[in-house]
Amino acid sequence: MPKFYLTTAIDYSNGDPHLGHALEKVGADCIARYRRLRGDQVHFLMGMDEHSQSVLQAAARAGVPPQEWVDRMASRFAEFWARLECSHDDWIRTTEPRHFRSVTELLRRIQRLHPDDLYVSEYEGLYCTGCEEFKQESQIVNGRCIEHPTLELIPTRERNHFFRLSRYGDRILDLITTGTLRVEPAIRRNEVVRLLESGLQDISVSRLRQPWGIPFPGDPEQTVYVWFDALINYLSATGFPDPGYDLLWPADLHVIGKGITRFHCVIWPAMLLAAELELPRQVWAHGYVQWEGTKMSKTAGTAVTLDEAIERHGPDALRYFLLREVGFEADGNFSWERFDERYTADLADGFGNLASRTLAMLAKYRDGIVPSSSAVTSLDTVGATALADYLQTMDALDLRGGIEAAWTIVSAANLFVQQSAPWSLAKSGKDRELDEVLTALARALCRLAVMASPFLPGKAQALWNDLGMEGKVSATNWNPAERPRVDGRQTRRASILFPKPASV
Ligand SMILES: [Zn+2]
Repeated sequence: MPKFYLTTAIDYSNGDPHLGHALEKVGADCIARYRRLRGDQVHFLMGMDEHSQSVLQAAARAGVPPQEWVDRMASRFAEFWARLECSHDDWIRTTEPRHFRSVTELLRRIQRLHPDDLYVSEYEGLYCTGCEEFKQESQIVNGRCIEHPTLELIPTRERNHFFRLSRYGDRILDLITTGTLRVEPAIRRNEVVRLLESGLQDISVSRLRQPWGIPFPGDPEQTVYVWFDALINYLSATGFPDPGYDLLWPADLHVIGKGITRFHCVIWPAMLLAAELELPRQVWAHGYVQWEGTKMSKTAGTAVTLDEAIERHGPDALRYFLLREVGFEADGNFSWERFDERYTADLADGFGNLASRTLAMLAKYRDGIVPSSSAVTSLDTVGATALADYLQTMDALDLRGGIEAAWTIVSAANLFVQQSAPWSLAKSGKDRELDEVLTALARALCRLAVMASPFLPGKAQALWNDLGMEGKVSATNWNPAERPRVDGRQTRRASILFPKPASV
């Protein structure tokens, strides 16, 4: 089994998770679940970034020590990710000893292998506490950070350790343009390429007398800069520097938001090159969830609670809506109105209705047992095409394309029921035709349960079991030309997968 090491960005512990965090985690989880179905040995990492200044501020506001604050936040985040059915294999926190050890070792390794790459200098600049970085002129609009227009930039001057980032621009540009380090989607790759072509400045990698963080090796007055610290989490979780860390490393995919491509596609690869370690294979930078046209974030001051969004129609429906309507590539809008529309049309009337009417007909006409029919119907042809499209789009991380491909089965199958009118076939005693129709519908549902499972893990599993299939949803055969074997399965009348709420 090929290994697939997948990570998400680790989140600041300065407030509750919101829809923006949820989009990223749900998208990465969808990829992890898909790769597992494909047979990969997936290792899926999520976690918390706990050393930022905003953590100190939030802890001070709450009147608790920072460690207590980050413990509290970590359990808040973990609770939300459990509710959203995230299937991560590991959960890293940057306050853990395993992370301290990796950060210290990585810096020592750079000091040993490329001593010129780290030097001490004076820094003066405008610091954004939202990004936790000094902003360059191109990143400032109207005196404010582009990402955080509600926050004041803080003029800062101090002695710091610097990393000679400027040395690595050409090599990274070459690695990205040759596809050795894949940066996607293309719009993000082009941004990174333009940034690299314009030349890189060295960056400060420590802060003076910061009370919260990892001491800089060899200079305890200095604390490792939070971003430098945070990026190393992906390596810490592999057990670096212990032998065997390279069973997981390099990461096959870093999933991040589009606002942090500079860190992941420029600074992180440069750090790894300086430490003579392998680079990640791919970075995917998704867009933002927008609410009334503004980026959803804690620091930008907009909020719809994640709790409300999960409560509205359940976790599977939220996952579906985020990945289908908001999308995992460009920015997308979230609105209650659109969420309710999608819920009713796609899930309650589409997927849910198809499942319940099919299972009801199987119960009524065949005692719940899927008949045996080898006839190839028009619905089987649609299913084969849908699966081929699904595999192609999902392999390319086009999650919206994948769910759209699966949904061609939903609409084709609901149409197939109307056109073949099983109730008339039953009335006129056309048993062979009725068997053909019911078997084709059961096959379509089986295919759909598998294809939908990365998106709607809970509901797909319920459907799988209602179809009389054992264990967890699994795909033993991905060949689109081969039809799922459902003959003879004892189905049961389903619970309603997506009930229509009175308010919709
Ligand atoms: Zn900022």
